[in-house]
Amino acid sequence: ERERLSRLRDTPSITIDGERIELLANIELPGDGPAAVKAGAVGVGLFRTEFLFMGRGGKVPGEEEQYRAYREALAGMQGMPVTIRTLDIGADKPLDKAQPKDYYLNPALGLRAIRFSLADPDMFRTQLRAILRAAAHGPVQLLFPMLAHVSEIRQTLALVEQASQELRERNVPQGLVKLGAMIEIPAAALTVRTFLKYFDFLSIGTNDLIQYTLAIDRADEAVSQLYDPFHPAVLRLVAEVIQATKAAGKEVCVCGEMAGDTAMTRLLLGLGLRSFSMQPAQILAIKQEVLRADTRRLEGWAQQVIDSEDPAGVLER
Ligand code: PEP
Ligand code: MG
Repeated sequence: ERERLSRLRDTPSITIDGERIELLANIELPGDGPAAVKAGAVGVGLFRTEFLFMGRGGKVPGEEEQYRAYREALAGMQGMPVTIRTLDIGADKPLDKAQPKDYYLNPALGLRAIRFSLADPDMFRTQLRAILRAAAHGPVQLLFPMLAHVSEIRQTLALVEQASQELRERNVPQGLVKLGAMIEIPAAALTVRTFLKYFDFLSIGTNDLIQYTLAIDRADEAVSQLYDPFHPAVLRLVAEVIQATKAAGKEVCVCGEMAGDTAMTRLLLGLGLRSFSMQPAQILAIKQEVLRADTRRLEGWAQQVIDSEDPAGVLER
């Protein structure tokens, strides 16, 4: 069994009809790269940098410390691309655990992710400079969480430019990065064309997209049976983002749990997805689904599934 799995690890991830499918890893710590490579990842689709910031009593790491951490992540991936997401603190990932639980009225709808970063531009530019510096050592994509408004997009891109300018003034080397947005708020999915105008690539965060589309707190056990990745509203938003991004000739990935769910693979392939980012432990199981799939035969079927009132029921048949 171990031998079979390790053979599968080295098998290229290509469908029956010859479509190459990119299987990437989600990581949380700079040292997670080697395990991701071992699990068969061909890059990191989501480096959740907030874990560098958590559990320090609210004291954030400086530019040098972050720069070393991002370089370590890149080195661990041996030249493969790494998508670094800027701080996504708040809600289920508090910066300071000591903070009172009722500090925010509603953490999931409050000062979280990009909102938190834009509220503290010095801290944000420190992280951006560290990432731009790391990009001098390997292929980096820079990803922003929880954007919804065009004003946030413009502010974010202006701060990237400013961080880059600060490095030039200090004569510190920096690399070129591709810029991407998470699509994880329904408002962002519904205005995907605006995002495509400003960004090089998109990454669909289904964990939050489900939470915000269905008004179900992703961490609340009392309503967890209603947290449904197969709700047709969720699937239609995902489908529209994939289709609009492909029509614009840009790249789109799914990096929420949906990407690592084998019950979803054929559907996502049928909707046109070619890049999946997931917990490393899921990669080989998803690859097995990819190797058995014929995307040409899945297309019409996938459209029928998302147009139905009960996609999960259709999938079972
Ligand atoms: C998501 O929301 O799907 C996602 C990938 O981000 P996180 O789980 O870190 O919020
Ligand atoms: Mg998210």
